[in-house]
Amino acid sequence: MTILRSSTRRQPLQVVVVGGGAAAVIAALHLFQRATPAAPVDVHLVERSPGVGPGLAYRTDHPRHTVNNFAERLSAVDGDPGHLIRWCAARGMDLGARSFPTRKVYGQYLTSVLDEVAVPDGSSLRRVRDQAIDLHRTEEGWQTVLASGSAIPADKVVLALGNPPAHPQPHLQQELGDRFVADPWTADWRPALAGVRRVLLLGTGLTMLDLAVELEHLLPRGELVAASRRGRLPAAHVVEPTDGSDWRDAVDGVRGFANQLWAGLEPEDQSRFASTYAHGWDLHRHRMSPAMSHHLTRLRDNGTLVVRTVPEVSPGEFDLVLNCTGPRPVPTRGWNPLVDAMLERGLVRPHRLGLGVDLVQPGHPVADDEEVLTDLFWLGSARKGLEWEVAAIPDLRAQAVALAGVVATAAEAAADERTRVLR
Ligand SMILES: Cc1cc2nc3c(=O)[nH]c(=O)nc-3n(C[C@H](O)[C@H](O)[C@H](O)COP(=O)(O)OP(=O)(O)OC[C@H]3O[C@@H](n4cnc5c(N)ncnc54)[C@H](O)[C@@H]3O)c2cc1C
Repeated sequence: MTILRSSTRRQPLQVVVVGGGAAAVIAALHLFQRATPAAPVDVHLVERSPGVGPGLAYRTDHPRHTVNNFAERLSAVDGDPGHLIRWCAARGMDLGARSFPTRKVYGQYLTSVLDEVAVPDGSSLRRVRDQAIDLHRTEEGWQTVLASGSAIPADKVVLALGNPPAHPQPHLQQELGDRFVADPWTADWRPALAGVRRVLLLGTGLTMLDLAVELEHLLPRGELVAASRRGRLPAAHVVEPTDGSDWRDAVDGVRGFANQLWAGLEPEDQSRFASTYAHGWDLHRHRMSPAMSHHLTRLRDNGTLVVRTVPEVSPGEFDLVLNCTGPRPVPTRGWNPLVDAMLERGLVRPHRLGLGVDLVQPGHPVADDEEVLTDLFWLGSARKGLEWEVAAIPDLRAQAVALAGVVATAAEAAADERTRVLR
């Protein structure tokens, strides 16, 4: 195995970020914001896919796939809500504070944020195109093992792996074979649409909506049925500023404190919220853009899309079934070799409600033997359970700020130690 860097006392502080989506980019930005020439950091950003920035959510180039939040809430930079809007303006795109850019544009923005990040003197950023497959502890810290056979030593490892694919549906897979698409985000099902007329979208959330508006173009005479347990659709944003009397104001007001409220609940109340109230909360909290809402209304009004409950549909009657159910929890085996290896080594375990990884603030995993692994730090979906709102851009920004604070303190301590040794 090739060790990419020497593992003698490391200075600057070595940080490996695994992942190259929104969480990783926003984290890297804030790590460098807090680094100084006196307390520098070296960041290795390990991403298995060709591009860094868009990740899964912002990779789509479909013109109707918009972000689902106002532009002013999607800045990558904490404390600078106009950053995305200025970035767009500099490229000739006039974006209002309450507008909804396409996800393609947002992905380009994230790529540019990393490309243009200001790396302080003494710090460095290295991009590594590889897949992290294992993580183990050494006397010096941690080694992130890569599929290529190399390993990167680190003082801190940041895990920004995103989401696993949707819940598997083994009975449908078995019954329908190729007519069932288990993961529409990664499988290339579009070339197989010839001869397809009736499509069942299993799920009625935002993923279903993305696919329905795309299918409208791909299958002009297609019949789309979306079905979920309750057949309920997400609510929609409104463009015009509300005066505080709209239900959305109440939801957004609570949303700002959702993680504090969650942390304050007794375990049994957390469990009750997750099983009974979360669905209703998510429908109102994760809203579609007004443009998407318009498309949805049109598709339903002209009969292209029909919404049903699951017992009302027979999947076998459809030419194609797309699995639009939500993602599985992060500590699930089989979707990511790094997660598999960490589960195997006892470095992660599921949160007690099965929502994400068992973590303590500010995001450290609790190992099987109860040790809190303070040099590891999870971002994004894995935090579900530690917090409630974890994967949207404002959440990732808050996590990045907390991470950057922890790393800056460690970088300062490393710098102090080095000064002491040299004296
Ligand atoms: C379709 C969709 C639309 C969304 N729209 C919005 C929105 O409009 N607004 C909003 O606020 N939020 C939105 N979200 C929420 C979204 O989860 C976040 O905004 C954000 O994209 C999550 O970023 P992430 O970095 O955690 O995950 P991802 O973007 O999935 O990035 C994870 C990256 O890690 C890489 N990776 C994983 N494992 C390894 C490994 N072992 N080695 C190397 N690389 C690895 C993957 O290749 C991937 O690029 C959306 C989510 C989805 C799925």
